[in-house]
Amino acid sequence: MRKIRVAAALAAVSIIISGQPRAEQPSGAFVLKSVRTFDGESMHEGWAVRVKGDRIEAVGPAASIDVSGAKLIDLGGATLLPGLVEGHSHVLLHAYSETSWNDQVEHEPLALRVARATNHLRSTLLAGFTTIRDLGTEGAGYADVGLKMAVNEGIIPGPRMLVVTRAIVATGTYGPKGFVPEWTVPQGGEETSGQDIIRVVRDQISRGADWIKLYGDYRWGPHPGSHPTFSLEEMKWAVETAHDAGVPVAVHTSTPEGMRRAILAGADTIEHGNDGTPEIFKMMAEHHVALCPTLTAGGGTRRPGQPESPMRARRREVFASALAAGVTILSGSDVGTFPHGDNARELEAMVDFGMSPQAALKAATSTAGEVLRMDIGEVKAGKFADLIAVDGDPSKEISAIRRVRFVMKGGTIYKQ
Ligand SMILES: [Zn+2]
Repeated sequence: MRKIRVAAALAAVSIIISGQPRAEQPSGAFVLKSVRTFDGESMHEGWAVRVKGDRIEAVGPAASIDVSGAKLIDLGGATLLPGLVEGHSHVLLHAYSETSWNDQVEHEPLALRVARATNHLRSTLLAGFTTIRDLGTEGAGYADVGLKMAVNEGIIPGPRMLVVTRAIVATGTYGPKGFVPEWTVPQGGEETSGQDIIRVVRDQISRGADWIKLYGDYRWGPHPGSHPTFSLEEMKWAVETAHDAGVPVAVHTSTPEGMRRAILAGADTIEHGNDGTPEIFKMMAEHHVALCPTLTAGGGTRRPGQPESPMRARRREVFASALAAGVTILSGSDVGTFPHGDNARELEAMVDFGMSPQAALKAATSTAGEVLRMDIGEVKAGKFADLIAVDGDPSKEISAIRRVRFVMKGGTIYKQ
């Protein structure tokens, strides 16, 4: 185990040494040429993209693109596409197969968690994910705000970050739990009840939250499984307060009742939705609430030849009913529960569960740009020059997104 860790650390160091001097400042102009370009919506052949500063200046058939004063980058037979978006990450967590959530929250000092997170951010960017929505520090306070600053100031390489700080949980429902009742143990999220949720939302926004994350249900109380936490009224207070500041709200919820409350409260996205029913998904579509399905977190991946578990079969059925209801899908994996940089798993899982590869790509690019309200996810003039190139054609074989040859974020090249 220790040997593996040292090897991994050395590999990471060599990336820093060999990778950083190559990053180019986004002052000049580039023209990127490739055989295939996925623009966020559909595939085009023989296109070129002109980048100026941190934005895309022009896109179209190669012959129509002005190459004057630009550095030409020929990506050959690779597919050019928008930088991918991870809709649900936890950069301050590492794989549960290494260390359980409880042990990370209870025994890993903040500095250790931040040190790991800097590696996670680099792996994520080099895997072609140029934006993440990080949905909770899970006991690591406001460290996501500082990490985002470090990326934006060019101190460490990483994707664009939307952060939520501590996430909001109903009093007594979250973890770590299981201690003697006389002890009050610090929690992995910020606890609140009643109208105090208004204060907590405002406080988190003042400390740098771009989104608010609520836990709308959780495993709590005397009975097994998840049960609703916040009342509809509490959720409404939270959503109204966040929306006043132009801050959207993501709600972790898997029970039909938790999902129903989130929809009626005006939430912008629902995370997981594991037990969503056709009626609930219809409601989501009608209220324009997007679903971030995190199929990977619920045992979504399967090795070839491995039989399908009952849990996985159930998730397949639920995801199919969300698609049938026309719910907007934002690709998000809950990475952090599994290794950072392996975010492609979610797109593979969505395809395995019945989505077309092109629809899966859309969920991680143009749809993500819309749901996250950012100028990203499209190869289109005026959008941020977040562009990647992969070997092969991911609209035919989704796993091609693992073969990342080129990564540009905001006009700066991080991998070539
Ligand atoms: Zn999560």
